[in-house]
Amino acid sequence: MKRVDVLVVGAGSAGCVTARRCAELGLKTLIIEKKPKDLIGRKVCGDEISRSHFDDTGIDYPTNGEVSSVISGADVYPPSLTHELKVRGWEDFNGWTVDRLNFGQRLLSEALAAGASLMTECRAAEPVMRGEQVTGVRCKNVASGEEDTIAAKIVVDASGFAATIRNKIDSEFVEKHVDKADVALCYREIVYLRYPMAEPEVARVFLGGKYAPSGYAWIFPKGPQTVNVGVGIGGGEGRGSPKSLYEAFKKEYPLLYDCEVLDSGGGAVPVRRPLASLVGNGVAFVGDAALQANPIHGGGLGPGMRAGIILGEVAKEAIARRDYSVRGLWDYNIRFLRGFGRRLASLEIFRRLLQQVTDEEMDFGFEKRLLEADDLMAANRGDGIPLSLLDKLKRVKRGIGRISLLTRIQKAASLMKKMNRLYAAYPGDPSGFQKWHESVLDIIRAAEFRKR
Ligand SMILES: Cc1cc2nc3c(=O)[nH]c(=O)nc-3n(C[C@H](O)[C@H](O)[C@H](O)COP(=O)(O)OP(=O)(O)OC[C@H]3O[C@@H](n4cnc5c(N)ncnc54)[C@H](O)[C@@H]3O)c2cc1C
Repeated sequence: MKRVDVLVVGAGSAGCVTARRCAELGLKTLIIEKKPKDLIGRKVCGDEISRSHFDDTGIDYPTNGEVSSVISGADVYPPSLTHELKVRGWEDFNGWTVDRLNFGQRLLSEALAAGASLMTECRAAEPVMRGEQVTGVRCKNVASGEEDTIAAKIVVDASGFAATIRNKIDSEFVEKHVDKADVALCYREIVYLRYPMAEPEVARVFLGGKYAPSGYAWIFPKGPQTVNVGVGIGGGEGRGSPKSLYEAFKKEYPLLYDCEVLDSGGGAVPVRRPLASLVGNGVAFVGDAALQANPIHGGGLGPGMRAGIILGEVAKEAIARRDYSVRGLWDYNIRFLRGFGRRLASLEIFRRLLQQVTDEEMDFGFEKRLLEADDLMAANRGDGIPLSLLDKLKRVKRGIGRISLLTRIQKAASLMKKMNRLYAAYPGDPSGFQKWHESVLDIIRAAEFRKR
């Protein structure tokens, strides 16, 4: 039987970054991946990633064949497609659209160069358990069907939305179930336009409306005349398939008339706060398997990379102490959830607000500038919705016809602040976990913003 320190299931962006950090720190690290090596990185995605994720992790910026387009700025449209917010000069947002395959191959080659090993066409089937401790993974060669078992001190589930390992663990620390409403279902195409677009470095986002109920449509530049276009909708809404909504959007948006389709496909991304605990006994979760994507826009590349760096460091410390229990791995929870995870958790409240305001209210909010670009940016940073007293008065005056909308925005602002504080006080060890988790669920239950 093969034995390693860390076994990473899945060679997506989160898995490769985790494996690289583990290997750099001297851990015997193996990645198993069901795809063949030359397809690692290929994924249906919006392809956008902000520069801040690289600045904060030290991972090299994408270059050359990895970059499709530079992104600087966004236009955010309400359902009426008028009074859009023009976001410019926002450092947190600027970045790139990447060629997913080339970018993924780079992350993989960095993991391998650091010393990690790779087994491709190897599908993980289930965790090997000794009592409550995960001690390895049973897997199968995709081509030959040959079964294998790999033993590991720590198993990292980086298998993406499928969460192959997480879904098979029974533990008070491991959440298996994700609500349909906390998943965005998406369809996207990469298309070649008839004409070059105006402002080819600006992303376009279209909120709500008939094309993207409880979600948004996007147009992300991939070059002067090529764009990544898609629709993501809240799961469980039963308001049409993402593909049919996408087709309707494409038919009505003039920029997209008669474009040539270069690539197409559907996918799902979790848009919830991260797992309440990112670790179990002998196991840790990262990337989409840990629900680390941004609840507002579904951007999961950056958060998974951030988490992978932390997880690699915590794995090294746990192995040095020979403690791979929940307690031994707990620092990963503390370092990710008190930090970036806090931002993601408060953004779930904002997502719930956005999903429950009506199209008419959203149009009104944009027309009256109830939420300005700065508010949107502050919310995205996890700072909540900043409402200074003066601002508040100004807003109430402006929104006098929509008091209930203002009240709901204020309620969301207050819950975001509460969530922020709760995550900042993430328990220092597993003993405080259940009580803390109950408090999170109380806030989520209160995050109801439907118009009365
Ligand atoms: C339509 C769409 C648009 C998106 N747009 C953006 C965007 O613009 N920007 C952004 O940042 N994010 C975006 N996301 C989200 C982003 O793609 C994910 O958050 C990110 O790819 C997650 O990375 P990951 O490494 O966790 O998982 P993945 O990239 O899904 O990687 C998981 C890997 O595990 C492998 N695997 C799965 N099961 C097994 C198994 N049993 N055994 C072995 N290997 C296995 C898979 O083959 C895969 O290689 C989008 C998602 C979708 C669906």
